Amino acid sequence: MGDGAGVVIVGGGQAGYQTAESLRQLGFPGAITVIAAEDFPPYQRPPLSKAYLLGEVDRHRLKFRTEEYYAEHGIDLRLGAEATAIDRAGKRLLLADGTSLAYSHLVLATGARVRLLPIPGAELAGVHYLRSLADVEAIERRLGEVAAVAVIGAGFIGLEFAAVARKLGKPVTVLEAAPRVMARVVAPELSAFFDETHRAHGVDIHCDTAVVEIAGRDGQAAEVVCADGHRVAAGLVVVGIGVIPETGLADACGLTCDDGIVVDGHGSTDDPAIFAAGDCTSYHHPFAGRRIRLESVQNAADQGRTVAAAIAGQARVYDTVPWFWSDQYDVKLQMVGLSAGCEKVVVRGDRAGGKFSLFHYREGVLRAVDSVNRPADHILARKLLAAGISPTPEQAADADFKLKDLLGAASA
Ligand code: NAP
Repeated sequence: MGDGAGVVIVGGGQAGYQTAESLRQLGFPGAITVIAAEDFPPYQRPPLSKAYLLGEVDRHRLKFRTEEYYAEHGIDLRLGAEATAIDRAGKRLLLADGTSLAYSHLVLATGARVRLLPIPGAELAGVHYLRSLADVEAIERRLGEVAAVAVIGAGFIGLEFAAVARKLGKPVTVLEAAPRVMARVVAPELSAFFDETHRAHGVDIHCDTAVVEIAGRDGQAAEVVCADGHRVAAGLVVVGIGVIPETGLADACGLTCDDGIVVDGHGSTDDPAIFAAGDCTSYHHPFAGRRIRLESVQNAADQGRTVAAAIAGQARVYDTVPWFWSDQYDVKLQMVGLSAGCEKVVVRGDRAGGKFSLFHYREGVLRAVDSVNRPADHILARKLLAAGISPTPEQAADADFKLKDLLGAASA
């Protein structure tokens, strides 16, 4: 514990919360302070663009823990607080209210901020981003008042929101700059499936489409104007064009940043007293074999656990095979591994019936499996990839071949 100052965590998202919780679970006895910018206690973001927006989950059920948990576990949760600078030499974190906190270990779990749409009209009422609970509550209010919605960006946020808006009966147009939907995160075969699914639900999708202006009426968004002159009438425009890692504090105090705060396998920065976890970090991932930055719940939670272990003196290297999920309509997508750079894909199951998995190979080795309404495949794929077991493409494509036998053979 050094000077006895304790752990200060900047950020009350998934990674910050997990670090605090894991420290206590590991028996860390020192002081823990969490600096959280939002006014609401740390909460789960995944339901925001899905069940919460559909009205299926109450806002209090989004919380990881009630306020009492923090008090009972000696975690000083400071809501609505903002960190402004790090004094590395003095091991102090400066806050916007003019006070400062001493730390033995500082954890930067600052996450990512939304990329802003750089076009005229983006500031009009009715143009919304979707990242926080407050964002979603504003969208919900607007959604009830408008005749039609436009979505800019066909990533996870854009398409999950489009599915919700269709379920609520609104006409939806999606405008995407890339040639296909979800291009950053999924392979072309999966983009094609989601494109078909959304069109079947009545979404009007335009890829390869640049938006140049949002035209307003009386200060309210009214139409999205595309570069080819096409105009989309919409009183609500939801923008989901990606996020930017929040590295400002780290950058300003001289920590190495390169598409995120650079950390090692324990979440340590180049200052041994400062760690980082979650969307804001980039690091060499053993599975990827290169430095990557992941934007996912799994990464935030597992890196938070890793950082807590290192601080509690029980260090272990973070090497979980990355996994992700998305729910759109009645489609449950579960992905494990990294399909970018794979040259061969094999389909297992019923593509036409919407229950299948895609097995992605690079240089003949299984690297990723995307499962659509095939949860058992996903669980198995996580085990296969973690164990470094690669079914042949022929075995993967043969629905009668029992993939789990490969696990048994490896452990026998
Ligand atoms: P995203 O997954 O990066 O997708 C953004 C999409 O918008 C990209 O396809 C991007 O294309 C496109 N785009 C960029 N600029 C554009 C423009 N000017 N006009 C139209 N399209 C444009 O990001 P996101 O959907 O905004 O999600 C934000 C974050 O939340 C991500 O970290 C995401 O992983 C996370 N999230 C995850 C889930 C999940 O795991 N289920 C759900 C919701 C959110 P280019 O790539 O060509 O720039």
